[in-house]
Amino acid sequence: MPIYNPPLDDIRFVLNEVLKAGALAREIPDYAEADWDTVGGMLEAVSEFARDVAFPLNQSGDKEQCTYNPADKSVKTPKGFDEAYQQYAALGLIGMSADPAYGGMGMPQYLNVAASEMLTAANFSLSSYPGLTGGAYKALHKFASDDLKDIYLPKMLSGEWSGTMCLTEPQAGSDLGLIRTKAVPQNDGSHAITGSKIFITCGEHDLTRNICHLVLARLPDAPEGVKGISLFVVPKFLPDANGEPGARNPAFCTGIEHKMGINASSTCSMSFEGAKGWLVGEPHKGMKAMFMMMNDARLKVGMQGLGLSEIAWQNAATYASERVQGKALKDFNNPDAKSVAIINHASVRRHLMDMKAQIDGFRALAYDVAIRLDLAAKHPEPTVRRDAEEYAGLMTPILKSCLSDLSCTVAQRGIQLHGGMGFINETGVNQYYRDSIIATIYEGTNDIQAMDFTFRKVLDFNDHMNRLGLFMAPLTEQVEAAKSNPATAEAAKVMEEGIKIFQNTCTAFMQLGMAGKLDEIHAQADHFLNMTGRLAVGSMWLKMVDAANEGLAALPENDGKAAFYRNKLALSDHYFTHIMRPDMKRMELLVAAGAAFLGNISREQQVPGPELGIAKSESKPDNRGHGPFFTF
Ligand SMILES: Cc1cc2nc3c(=O)[nH]c(=O)nc-3n(C[C@H](O)[C@H](O)[C@H](O)COP(=O)(O)OP(=O)(O)OC[C@H]3O[C@@H](n4cnc5c(N)ncnc54)[C@H](O)[C@@H]3O)c2cc1C
Repeated sequence: MPIYNPPLDDIRFVLNEVLKAGALAREIPDYAEADWDTVGGMLEAVSEFARDVAFPLNQSGDKEQCTYNPADKSVKTPKGFDEAYQQYAALGLIGMSADPAYGGMGMPQYLNVAASEMLTAANFSLSSYPGLTGGAYKALHKFASDDLKDIYLPKMLSGEWSGTMCLTEPQAGSDLGLIRTKAVPQNDGSHAITGSKIFITCGEHDLTRNICHLVLARLPDAPEGVKGISLFVVPKFLPDANGEPGARNPAFCTGIEHKMGINASSTCSMSFEGAKGWLVGEPHKGMKAMFMMMNDARLKVGMQGLGLSEIAWQNAATYASERVQGKALKDFNNPDAKSVAIINHASVRRHLMDMKAQIDGFRALAYDVAIRLDLAAKHPEPTVRRDAEEYAGLMTPILKSCLSDLSCTVAQRGIQLHGGMGFINETGVNQYYRDSIIATIYEGTNDIQAMDFTFRKVLDFNDHMNRLGLFMAPLTEQVEAAKSNPATAEAAKVMEEGIKIFQNTCTAFMQLGMAGKLDEIHAQADHFLNMTGRLAVGSMWLKMVDAANEGLAALPENDGKAAFYRNKLALSDHYFTHIMRPDMKRMELLVAAGAAFLGNISREQQVPGPELGIAKSESKPDNRGHGPFFTF
């Protein structure tokens, strides 16, 4: 049977000892209540829910899946989901970081991010229902009129109503400029929404009394492309005079997808048949609203990757300590030697350390970015707010992409470490692999993240590289200081080499950019993103080494916690020597090779057409549409 122990010690170490998150309570008046004791209590509450309520439903939910009833266009979630959702809502966790004016608890965002990690690890599918509601809440809170907020927000935060994000259409996925759904103004100030959306997470289910869809659609006078898209709230049931669910709005689920993972999360095709909707924010500014929500939503997807990596790692490490197979190498020729648990084999331990060194490093980076989002939203100093927002914007595509990729790698390696048992459904670990892949696809595929990072965030000549400066200036300072500390001097060398490789790549990309060779940059954008991620995580490991040494120094002799800190020091060494140094060199070579990638070679020569086996698809183009390019 799989296990999940919420990693509270690791989360506390990062938040409290490394990032000093408790200081937010002193710096930000709105977070005065969020002292470390209160935060610790909330983390406990979330972890108990994740371990005791959500996790026991994970395997059964995957097996039972959601079911669709065409007769009434309803969707049934697996057994136990309803009670679990109500319990989560009753604990107030949907509104943990939400505005107290609408029933939220007003706690910092970083707590919500920690909750995302634990809830996704325990039960990814279940986490999607409050997760989508949280996203819709944020969009409404930021952009909707006070009247709309008064109707929708308290009910969403209490868990009575839920939310969705309806962007994708058959012909508009990465390229949302191709959206066709129409919004026609009505005399009563509402709009009639007509169109089809696909892949809508939690578009229909039986957990709440109402579902509030946030829908991207075009007004009649809308300009072409992304500049002509507006945002609307379209409820399943129209709120009556008392704000209770009234008449059925013609916004129907026409079917659900059968998927390789997150099987207990409903993925719906939606048909809006002149459904009543209300404009959220300004006309034609729907994409702007969506992009403003993006740092938050993409960080959440990163946390899904982190949660899955953690649970896959925990199960692999536990299995490796229990599974007895093979003698220790030193006893290979000793006929009397007994077989040992596989964790005693060096290669198994190396795999486990590869996983954990990245999980811990990216956890620190993710929580650092979550705290920056808190600073960006609430700090009294405008310059602190602006810099925090810019920094979070730079790091977010890295977190989304690297963490979702990491979860696939860790979950796949976790299956390998289980041997044949990993391939067997009953063990439960192949679910983490199946579940992990979606995080690399939605909220912008990882290739789209690489484009966003490279072209919008780094090679943004309007920004004059200020954003990059926010990353590089403190990093260079940190590495200088680390060089003179014996505990970090070796790691600092790896960081110095890494910074050089990164700077050379930036210079090469800028030269290519100025020469108009955008394809040459685009072809290597993912390596560039990953290389920056390696550096950013290196910076976090330097901080964690300092915190671990401080922690060790403060412990009484023979204190059991020493093993925790020593493990962090070993993982840090592992990160710098086994992961960062070789990866940076590998990516340096790849980027260098990439500059010559396109050269004079034609597209057909690179990826040949029908004569070499790439056949034309028989399916009609409307099945799952194609956009020519992503419009930022
Ligand atoms: C389970 C699930 C849940 C989802 N939930 C939601 C939801 O709640 N709401 C919602 O609106 N949508 C949702 N989606 C849709 C999801 O966001 C899209 O599938 C995703 O954005 C990719 O779009 P697409 O599928 O059309 O792929 P395409 O855009 O067709 O992309 C196909 C491939 O081409 C690549 N590509 C496309 N454009 C470029 C480019 N310019 N440069 C380089 N490569 C490019 C992509 O990276 C990808 O590899 C969900 C999807 C799934 C499967």
